[in-house]
Amino acid sequence: MTSFSPYHSYDVLVVGAGHAGCEAAAAAANLGSKVLLVTMNMETIARMSCNPAMGGVAKGQIVREIDALGGYSGIVTDETMIQFRMLNRSKGPAMWSPRAQSDRWRFAEQWRLHLEQIHNLDFLQDSVKEIIVDHNKAIGIVTSLDIRINAKAVILTTGTFMNGTIHVGTNNMSGGRMGEPPSLGITGQLSALGFDTGRMKTGTPPRIDGRTIDYSQLEEQAGDLEPGKFSYLDTKTPLQQRSCYITYTNQNVHDILREGFNESPMYTGRIQGLGPRYCPSIEDKINRFAERDRHQIFVEPEGTDTIEIYLNGFSTSLPYHIQIKALHEIQGFKNAKIFRPGYAIEYDYFPPTQLQHTLETKHIQNLYFAGQINGTTGYEEAACQGLIAGINAHLKVKESEPFILRRNEAYIGVLIDDLVNKGTDEPYRMFTSRAEYRLLLRQDNADLRLTPLGYKIGLASAKRMQQTELKEKNSQHIFNLLHSNSITPDEVNSLLADKETSPIKDKTSMAKLLSRPQLDLITLTKIPSINKLMLEYPTEHLNEAEIRIKYDTYIQKEQEQADKLIRLEHLTIPFNFNYQSMTALSAEAREKLIQIKPATIGQASRISGINPSDISILLVHFGR
Ligand code: FAD
Repeated sequence: MTSFSPYHSYDVLVVGAGHAGCEAAAAAANLGSKVLLVTMNMETIARMSCNPAMGGVAKGQIVREIDALGGYSGIVTDETMIQFRMLNRSKGPAMWSPRAQSDRWRFAEQWRLHLEQIHNLDFLQDSVKEIIVDHNKAIGIVTSLDIRINAKAVILTTGTFMNGTIHVGTNNMSGGRMGEPPSLGITGQLSALGFDTGRMKTGTPPRIDGRTIDYSQLEEQAGDLEPGKFSYLDTKTPLQQRSCYITYTNQNVHDILREGFNESPMYTGRIQGLGPRYCPSIEDKINRFAERDRHQIFVEPEGTDTIEIYLNGFSTSLPYHIQIKALHEIQGFKNAKIFRPGYAIEYDYFPPTQLQHTLETKHIQNLYFAGQINGTTGYEEAACQGLIAGINAHLKVKESEPFILRRNEAYIGVLIDDLVNKGTDEPYRMFTSRAEYRLLLRQDNADLRLTPLGYKIGLASAKRMQQTELKEKNSQHIFNLLHSNSITPDEVNSLLADKETSPIKDKTSMAKLLSRPQLDLITLTKIPSINKLMLEYPTEHLNEAEIRIKYDTYIQKEQEQADKLIRLEHLTIPFNFNYQSMTALSAEAREKLIQIKPATIGQASRISGINPSDISILLVHFGR
């Protein structure tokens, strides 16, 4: 073994350049640490292992939070976006969630180009096989080429690679992703040091040749007419968007898939790890929801120019011959050709209850875990953990106070608090229902919530901070203007009639009118006196003030609800309580409550998979 390192000693060493590793390395280096990013393959930096999309419900909020703090995921998504949709627009603003399809190749390329611009960041292509530990403290790593590199802190972000096993039908092979080797050695070493480990699995659908799809038989799903974006900085929205399409499975498809069950790694017991409940394979769906005669498939382009197509909703590890036979029965896919078969992967993870809120491990000082290694699933969940681990590794090395986000400050805070307190025995993904304070944690105000915090630690730039201060100042000013100015019946009543809302009799404050559900600020700016007041402000600042006015009461109610939940944490539940009869609870909640039999509502709230909405139902049931 080489006994010295040709490299200098680093402040922070990041293992793995996936979504967690890239954010971790960028954050620590931008904060001023000397950072080395060691990754198996420089060509796969920031590779999207599964679908080429960022954001979605609750995940979109996370990307905006990463951006507000000074991370890159939002910027890279904007730069490589081929379609943008704001999901849940018909619901209240707490539920609005941005989602974008990215060009898979450009996404990885842009990430790498950004990383290459960071002065303090070095790269090394190699596989790490061991963490050097001295007196319960991580002090470096050893690579497969027996290169030893010292560092003051080490961040592990190895994703699905640790002891990864890939399955397609009865075939299986070692791998971290299809075509990439697994990461060997680290699990064994850390187990010997006292860490618990577990096994999880995830899967991906086949990619097909877009030239073999009959699009005339599919439903088109275009992007938003006015596409939004993720970054609060001045990134551009795409000039041209590509459409996605929708098709469905049918009974024939299900019958063919069932023919393959005796060769399925899941149903023959060769896969032991638990998979993502909310991203089930198609075989799982037809089994669990046997009463449904069809399942939706989103047909998504993998990039701007490519013909390769991703089949969102058709993840499978059935044998190739079953995959292709079943595909041919789907409307529009009669002649489909597969580029890459779907597969499942099993990998090691470390139950995250072994972590502190900084993502430093409890067992070994200065060793941090971030991303899928902690039992999460998804790029966004991984990226935000990387950011927090990178920040905290830097702060620890510089002997500064840790950076911890609370549940009422960010989805990132909710995610890490859940992981650390509740752990997870199945791949954890973020949902809005996991957050108690979701009216506070909106996608539109992540900058107001977090940029001052990011700026204080030195990560968010002065430019970001100035923009945020201006938004805060303007939206407060607009809020005051709308409260202090009134409007006469003559000015507004015909508009109110158009909007089918009752006329006013006396002068009424603009804010009071705006709080009517039938009205919004854009509509009200048709009235000249309001238009004149609002003219000089950017839309984003107007939206902010509007939300504050419209949802003021709800925000207060939410706060009261949160207080109640905390107070009632110790209320007892009868030991043999019959949860089966409580059909308002989610199926997952019933399953977990029956299994664990919590003694109190407080205990119930800490069980993984029990959401605040389930707790509210229990509270109502017990008359609280
Ligand atoms: P990864 O993106 O996996 O990156 C890990 C990085 O570490 C890689 O660059 C790798 O080369 C490097 N590395 C690993 N070990 C070492 C080592 N010892 N030394 C040096 N470098 C190392 N998410 C969803 O939300 N929905 C899905 O449906 C979904 N399906 C998936 C299907 C498949 C087949 C796979 C593989 C992943 C899927 N994911 C899905 C998960 C998603 O890809 C991950 O959540 C996300 O990529 C995790 O990011 P990460 O940074 O933790 O790890």
